[in-house]
Amino acid sequence: MSSDRITERVQKVEPSGIRRMFELVASMKDPINLSIGQADFDVPESVKEAAIQAIRDGFNRYTVTQGIPELNDRIAQHYRETYDFRIESSLVTSGVSGGLLLAMLVLVDPGDEVLIPDPYFVMYKHLVHLTGGVPKFYDTYPSFRVTRELLESQITDRTKVMLINSPSNPTGAVFTAPELQVIAEIAREHDITVISDEIYESFAYGARYRSMCQHLADAVVLGGFSKTYGMPGWRVGWAVGPKDILEAMRKLQQFSFVCAPSMAQRACVAAMDVDMSEYIDAYRQKRNLVFDSLKENYSIVRPDGSFYLFPELPPGLDEKAFIDQAIRKDVLLVPGSACSRRATHFRLSFAAPNDVLKRGLDVLNGIAVQAASS
Ligand code: PMP
Repeated sequence: MSSDRITERVQKVEPSGIRRMFELVASMKDPINLSIGQADFDVPESVKEAAIQAIRDGFNRYTVTQGIPELNDRIAQHYRETYDFRIESSLVTSGVSGGLLLAMLVLVDPGDEVLIPDPYFVMYKHLVHLTGGVPKFYDTYPSFRVTRELLESQITDRTKVMLINSPSNPTGAVFTAPELQVIAEIAREHDITVISDEIYESFAYGARYRSMCQHLADAVVLGGFSKTYGMPGWRVGWAVGPKDILEAMRKLQQFSFVCAPSMAQRACVAAMDVDMSEYIDAYRQKRNLVFDSLKENYSIVRPDGSFYLFPELPPGLDEKAFIDQAIRKDVLLVPGSACSRRATHFRLSFAAPNDVLKRGLDVLNGIAVQAASS
C-alpha cells in the first residue's frame, strides 16, 4: 500500500529511537533493562482500591471535560501547599502527553518557533512538527545548564514558546531558582509563553524543588501521576496556568481526548494523599549507587532529579559500537541520539531493582575499562 495517503505532518515523525529497545526486550531471555522510562514500583494498594471502588460504584461514564472537581481542587491545593502558588486555572489531561499536545496545538501556529533544550524528551520535537511549528534547539552540553546567552542565541521574531523540562529526561538536571528566574525574565521581555513539563517534580534529590510557577505566574505548568505513583497506564496528568490558554485547551480536549479516564481520576484524588517519600528516598539511593559506581569510568554530570543519568560514551567507542556491545551483554540503554542532535552520550534509567542495576553497572564498567585499554 502506498504511503502517499499519510499526511506530510505525520510522515515527518520518525519512529522513536527507543522502540528498538522495546522490540529487543521481547526477544531476550533475561535482559538487564536500563532503558525504561517508568518507575519500577507499582501503584500503592490504597490507590488501586480507590480505582476498583470507583468502577464498582458505577463511576464509568464521561466526566466533565476539565476533570472532576475533587481532583482539580486537590491539584490547586498541591500548588498552594507545595509552592505557595494560587493557580488561576487547571485542566485534568490524559497524561502529560495529552497536556503537551493540547498546549502545543493551542499555542503554536505554522511557522512559529519553539525553543527546546538539547538533550530533550523525545516527544517534544515531534509535537512541534505536528503543529507546523519549528523546533529551535539550544545545546546545553556538557553541563546541561540553561543560561541567558544560550536562550537569547536562538530567539527570533517568530519565537512563540519555550518548552522546559525540570527535572529533565534524559539528563536529570534540575533548574535552580536563578535559572528559572532567567527563563521568566526572557519570557516577559520577548513575550514568549513558557510550557514547563514538571512530570518528575517528586523525583528531586537535592535542595527543595522549585516550580516554574514560582517565577512566572503566566507559565503553563504540566504535572502528572504516571511517574510519581507508578501508574503510567492510567493516563492522568494536569495542566495549570492562565485562564485563556487553559480554556482553549479544555475546548480542544472536548473534541479530542474528551476526558481523562474516570476511575483513574477518582483514584488520583486518593493518590495525592499518599506519602511517596519512602519511594523517592529509595530512588535517591539508586541515583547514588549508579553515579558512585560509574563516575570513575565515565564522564557524567550527577543528576539532581528524575531517574536517568546521561553519561558520555567511553572514548574510542561510537554510539552504535557502544550500544551494540551493551546489548551483546544483555544490557539495554537508550542511545543519546534518540534524545539529542548529538550522538555522544547515552541514557541510563535507574528505575530498576538494585540487583538488576548492579549487574548492569558491572557490564558498563567492564566496557569502559576495556575501551580505555584498547
Ligand atoms: N514528559 C516527560 C519528560 C516524560 O519523561 C514523560 C514520560 N516518559 C512524559 C512527559 C509523558 O508522561 P505521561 O505518561 O504523563 O503522558
